[in-house]
Amino acid sequence: EAAVMDLKKIIRSIPDYPKTGIIFRDISTLIAHGPGFRQAVRQLAAPFLDQKIDKVVGIEARGFIFGGAVADLLGVGFVPIRKQGKLPGEVVGQDYELEYGTDRIELHKDAIQPGERVLLLDDLIATGGTASAGVDLVNHVGGEIIAAAFVIDLPDLRGADLLREKDVQVHTLVA
Ligand code: 5GP
Repeated sequence: EAAVMDLKKIIRSIPDYPKTGIIFRDISTLIAHGPGFRQAVRQLAAPFLDQKIDKVVGIEARGFIFGGAVADLLGVGFVPIRKQGKLPGEVVGQDYELEYGTDRIELHKDAIQPGERVLLLDDLIATGGTASAGVDLVNHVGGEIIAAAFVIDLPDLRGADLLREKDVQVHTLVA
């Protein structure tokens, strides 16, 4: 059996990206590392193997990489949440706050059936604004959010706390 790796060591930090003073957690080094990526996907999925999840919803773009792999592991379908204007079918949209201004994400209206049990996936949670908007979209189409899972938590920004205040179970791998 393979030894458990410290995933934090496989995630690269890039200073001053996308702007001065920000330290960007770059998961490209993790997904390029075969055993590291496999461990991350298995750890993300582990609490949900027996939770009767119906759909994994991933947030553009890095949420697609982990979400697609977790969906495969759980044997369920994958549903993308995308930036405004990217999905071709009928959508519901949700605005959310950025540091400066707002952004909007969208979900196909018919991608989740009412009552389906949904696991939300993204690579990282910071303020929780993006994931919170994703939770609202899933709720809007009648899905039931069972949990939200992230590779990285930036706990100082309190995003996981924000989701928990909305009664969303939060699962993260590294802080
Ligand atoms: P939040 O909405 O929680 O403030 O920000 C989380 C969103 O921004 C996620 O979709 C995530 O992909 C992206 N994000 C913000 N900061 C970083 C970072 O340092 N590294 C990566 N990989 N994504 C980030």
